[in-house]
Amino acid sequence: MDFDEKKLRLANRLKEELNLSEKVYNAIKKVPRHFFVPERYKSEAYVDTPLPIGYGQTISAPHMVAIMCELLDLKEGEKVLEIGTGCGYHAAVTAEIVGKTGIVVSVERIPELAEMAKRNLSALGYDNVLVVVGDGSLGYEPMAPYDKIYVTASAPDLPKPLLEQLKIGGKMVIPIGDTYQVLYVVEKDHEIRKWSWGAVRFVPLYGKYGFRDFEE
Ligand code: SAM
Repeated sequence: MDFDEKKLRLANRLKEELNLSEKVYNAIKKVPRHFFVPERYKSEAYVDTPLPIGYGQTISAPHMVAIMCELLDLKEGEKVLEIGTGCGYHAAVTAEIVGKTGIVVSVERIPELAEMAKRNLSALGYDNVLVVVGDGSLGYEPMAPYDKIYVTASAPDLPKPLLEQLKIGGKMVIPIGDTYQVLYVVEKDHEIRKWSWGAVRFVPLYGKYGFRDFEE
């Protein structure tokens, strides 16, 4: 079976199991995950599991990417902030959904991964993704405010800068916790509403509002 066939099967399975919206299904069906996976894991690119990408980090499992996109209710033209670019796969899926009139700003703390993500995204023509190296627990002020924010590493608590950089009416999806982690959906109106989606497993968020500073 070639990559395209495997990709289609995975997208169809996730659509069925998660009752995916048409836009999230189309994005998962389109983005070539094998392109983002290191050579030795390419044969497993369409298995629904996280895979190592180097530097102790992982590419998220496709079902988690799909669920986070659904929870955010992403729309065409939105400005989205991703914390934790990794190799760029999730950013590409988001970029497909927000389209050319939208933009994805993605912050990664490991420069080598940010470079890898930039190469992957530009080779696939995703010029609506801006990858920035830095401490994503601080958000990315120059492009704020954002319609939607999502974090792909687990935080000790809700980072204050991210809440501040979210638009009124905006939504954030973020895993919180150490050994026991829960995925939260945060809605910012004139008050903050927060509800838990369920238990998840992510790598830790480092940085000022993460578990510890990078240098430690
Ligand atoms: N989004 C990725 C994908 O497409 O599959 C998955 C990313 S991986 C699960 C989490 C990433 O968060 C890692 O690359 C890690 O280096 C990054 N990270 C952790 N703490 C961070 C921080 N404070 N700022 C930016 N990135 C951070």
